[in-house]
Amino acid sequence: MKSKKSSVVVLTSLFLSIGLSQGLIAQENIPFTKAVHMAKYLEPSRVYAEQNKISAQKLKELEKRTGKKPNILILIVDDMGYGDPGVYGGGAMIGAPTPNIDALANNGILLTSTYAQPTCTPTRAAIMTGRIPARSGLTRPILTGEQPTVNPWADEVTAAAMLSKNGYITALSGKWHLGEQDGYWPHQVGYDEYFGILSVASEFTQGMMERRYPDMVYNPERMKVLDTLSHRAITAGKKGGKLESVQEIKTLDELAEIDQKVAEYSESFIRKAVKEDKPFYLVHSFIKVHNDNFPAKAFKGKSPAKFPYKDAVIEVDDITGRLVNLLKELKIDENTFVFFTSDNGANEDLWPDSGYQPFKGGKGTTWEGGVRVPGIASWPGMIKSGKQSDGLFDLMDLFNTSLTIAGIENQISPDRYIDGVDQTSFLLGDEGKSNREAVFMYSEKTFMALRWEEYKVHMKVFDVKHPMANLDESTILNVGMAPWIYNLYMDPKEQASTGHRYFEWGIGTAVGLIREHGNTYKDFPMKDIGLGIAGK
Ligand code: CA
Repeated sequence: MKSKKSSVVVLTSLFLSIGLSQGLIAQENIPFTKAVHMAKYLEPSRVYAEQNKISAQKLKELEKRTGKKPNILILIVDDMGYGDPGVYGGGAMIGAPTPNIDALANNGILLTSTYAQPTCTPTRAAIMTGRIPARSGLTRPILTGEQPTVNPWADEVTAAAMLSKNGYITALSGKWHLGEQDGYWPHQVGYDEYFGILSVASEFTQGMMERRYPDMVYNPERMKVLDTLSHRAITAGKKGGKLESVQEIKTLDELAEIDQKVAEYSESFIRKAVKEDKPFYLVHSFIKVHNDNFPAKAFKGKSPAKFPYKDAVIEVDDITGRLVNLLKELKIDENTFVFFTSDNGANEDLWPDSGYQPFKGGKGTTWEGGVRVPGIASWPGMIKSGKQSDGLFDLMDLFNTSLTIAGIENQISPDRYIDGVDQTSFLLGDEGKSNREAVFMYSEKTFMALRWEEYKVHMKVFDVKHPMANLDESTILNVGMAPWIYNLYMDPKEQASTGHRYFEWGIGTAVGLIREHGNTYKDFPMKDIGLGIAGK
């Protein structure tokens, strides 16, 4: 495997002079830090003995009561903004009430500092592998017909694969977007079953929407090529089997119904798992609300706002309610961990086909608007209802947390670095604190920013002079002598960097965390799968 030298840790002279030594810094020597190293290949985590005890006890008692391992249901919406659900300040206020998502949060814990990667593919890779995308190589979406030079999955281990080996029945339902070719399919990388689409909604609509893509739709030659590059169909597969085409998607009306088909599949999968008396791990991955949104017929014009995006939000909310209610109907809600989130911030570039967030920047950037997403965990009887926490949660923590819930966290192989942190005790402890010390934010392989406590420290920044064109018109800039620093409690929109004026006490710690993070690449390097832009 070709490894690339880390591009992390380009620090300015001022901060190199702070006095932190080069090379690996012992965590205990970084001022203010609370995380501890458990092993060289594991991200340091904050350990709270009392909440660990409570969490372990709860899991033990549950297993004793049910005689089974808990089920895990992860719901990932595509491109939903932090502010879209009602419980996050949106809902009815922005013309798309979300009663089901709100109820899920009210019955569980609402996390206000959940972080994704800036785009779809890297976030999904991080959730599946527990690793920062620079390590798996899946640092940005693979585009129509694009062929990576190296299959990243050849040496990655998914949570699904580990759970499947340990008595779980595992499925990926809905959007994959982690490679379309043979060798990349969900049922080839650990899932027992897959039903959904291998790419993304816009890969379908570019051959269907006359108004947006006339240069493609009205050009038969190009359409012919598109058909060879992209399989626009609902596909499915089972471990060890081929990829089957379930339904070719030729029209926008057919496209509009995909999430309904995926929901029906998830429902039948859950029923089957119960019937077979097996614990399940189901990643239900919505196709919506990624552009271009076409709500299912039953939801067309049904949101107060009437716009397709808002109709898509209420459709997603309705499906969320359907799945949660099914758990209750089957009497497995008390034995099922549910996590609801989005894979990146709202895509401002596509407005009005995009969501809402009370932050600067959107999808594609490492401003809060690009990476801070809804994060709701619910588990009746296990997670106290009505909780809210600003503790840090990175979506890659779902890897470790899922393994701990299943009792197989000790099976993580030491031959790779796991950037995820086990957050079971944070979520299950009645007064739980986050086990995560910091969130490291990247644009592809470039380290951009750190979130630590309530502070955001940017080592590089996205210049979003064109606020509605983040993916295509923003550029990455180096900061000057000092990092750009924001206290997110005082300045959640990251409007005015206070530099080190109010944070001199914390810079040493922040820089130490970044440098120590950068040092992990020495033994556990980045992977290059050939996604780089030519000349970059
Ligand atoms: Ca996305």
